Amino acid sequence: MTERPFAAEMPWPDFHARMKDGKTPILIPLGSMEQHGHHMPLHVDVLLPTEFARRVAARVDGLVAPSFTYGYKSQQKCGGGNHMPGTVSLEGQTLVHQLRDVIKEFARHGGRNFAIVNGHYENSWFINEAVDLALRELRWDGVTDVKIVVLSYWDFVNQETIDKIYPDGFPGWAVEHGGVLETSLMLALYPDLVQLQRAVDHPAATFPPYDVYPVKPEWTPSSGTLSSPKNASREKGELMLRICTDGIVQALQDEFSISPGARAAA
Ligand code: ZN
Ligand code: MN
Repeated sequence: MTERPFAAEMPWPDFHARMKDGKTPILIPLGSMEQHGHHMPLHVDVLLPTEFARRVAARVDGLVAPSFTYGYKSQQKCGGGNHMPGTVSLEGQTLVHQLRDVIKEFARHGGRNFAIVNGHYENSWFINEAVDLALRELRWDGVTDVKIVVLSYWDFVNQETIDKIYPDGFPGWAVEHGGVLETSLMLALYPDLVQLQRAVDHPAATFPPYDVYPVKPEWTPSSGTLSSPKNASREKGELMLRICTDGIVQALQDEFSISPGARAAA
C-alpha cells in the first residue's frame, strides 16, 4: 500500500500502468482559498479533503488527482462571505469547466471510476454540473461506463459522533465554518498550522432565512468564523478522521465493487 498515492508524483509509465484498465479509482479533492478565522490558514478546505483522499486512496488502491486549490465564491451564511480578506474564489462556470475538463482528461487516460472529495460547501452544485457535463460529453464520445461518486467528507460524520463532538448541541454544518469540525481536524493533522490561542470565542452566527447581495458585512462575525472553535480538540479530530475515512472507504467499495479484502490479498 502506498502512503503517497498522488498521481502527479508518478513518472508517466507508472501512471499509465495504473490507469489503463480503468479499475483504479481516481479521487479528485476540491477545496477553496478562504479565510477560516484568526487561528487557521486560508487553505483548510484544500488540506482536509486532500488528506481524506490520500487516506482513502491508500485503502482502495486509488490515485489522488491534484487538488483544486480554488473554489466557488464563499457565501456569507456558510463561509463568511466572499468579501472577507484572504478569500480568493473562482466564478461558477470557471470551476465547472475546469472540473469537467479534468474528469474528461483522466477518462481519456483510462479512468472510469471517480470520486469527487469536496471540502468547501459552496462547490457543491458546481461539482454536480461539472459531473453532468463530463458524463454527457463522454457519452457523445462513446464512453458510457464512467461512474462518479460525489461526496463532502463532513456528511460521513454520523449522529452518534455528532453527539460526542457537540455535547452542548450541534449548531449545524452551515455555521461550522472555522468551528469545531475543521479546527479539530486541523489539530489532528496539521497542528503546526493552527494558532488556537488566536481563536475567537463567540456564539454561533444566526442569519435571516434569505440572502442579500451585495452582502451585509455586519452579518458575518468579525472573526470570520461562523461558530466558536473553543471546544475543538485533537481527539475530536482523530475521531472524525477515522469515522469519515471509514465511511468514504465503505462508500467507494460499495459503488466501485471493490472487495474489502482485495488490498490485503494483493
Ligand atoms: Zn472550510
Ligand atoms: Mn469553505
